[in-house]
Amino acid sequence: MNHIAANLAGVHRRLQAACARAGRPSGGVRLVAVTKGFGAAAVAAAVAAGQREFGESYVQEAVPKMQALGAGPPLAWHFIGPVQSNKTRDIAAHFQWVHGVDRLKIGERLSVQRQEPEPLDVCVQVNISGEISKSGCTPADAPDLCAKLARLPGIRLRGLMAIPAAGSGPESARPAFRRMRALFEAIGQGGAVDPRLFDTLSMGMSADIEVAIEEGATLVRVGTAIFGSRE
Ligand SMILES: *Cc1c(COP(=O)(O)O)cnc(C)c1O
Repeated sequence: MNHIAANLAGVHRRLQAACARAGRPSGGVRLVAVTKGFGAAAVAAAVAAGQREFGESYVQEAVPKMQALGAGPPLAWHFIGPVQSNKTRDIAAHFQWVHGVDRLKIGERLSVQRQEPEPLDVCVQVNISGEISKSGCTPADAPDLCAKLARLPGIRLRGLMAIPAAGSGPESARPAFRRMRALFEAIGQGGAVDPRLFDTLSMGMSADIEVAIEEGATLVRVGTAIFGSRE
């Protein structure tokens, strides 16, 4: 598992270089290590290398890993997969963040089901490339959905998340990232959300973190570049 520490260091160098190029303070971008497809030993290796924030796409896969890691330092778990209604209770119980909220009903369920003293941090997923197969609300629906979610107790609306359409090379995502940033800023300044909480633009994965950071990402979700390719 030595490669995990080395890969993490490499990702941190990429983040720092991208921040420097974009004229942004290094440390202004949070790194969520995506562990789907890898076991608790891989998570433990990343924890040993200093990583504390982790992303998972499936509740059934994530919870046993959390339990296996239980005795270590406190970790923040981000649910990054599509959120189905029948999973909201488990998500509200086990995660600190949910990135894939794309309709009011899901937000209302999470709001009611969150029992922890700390509210659940939520990002609204936007289907920024308009793909039929992908979760996310339309860009046009995002402001109203954010306004409604911002009023719910038990959750804290933190920002927006997107997964642009797969293209040929990292540059292909740049226009979608740019549209996300414009939407993020418009909603943040629109008066219907709390601008002090609405601080997270979750976009960028292993192949395109540099472009995402140049276009304003404040949180990147990275799996392959840290843990290797998933089978
Ligand atoms: C799997 C996944 C990632 C990580 O992708 P990599 O290309 O392995 O870095 C990021 N975000 C979401 C939503 C994912 O499902």
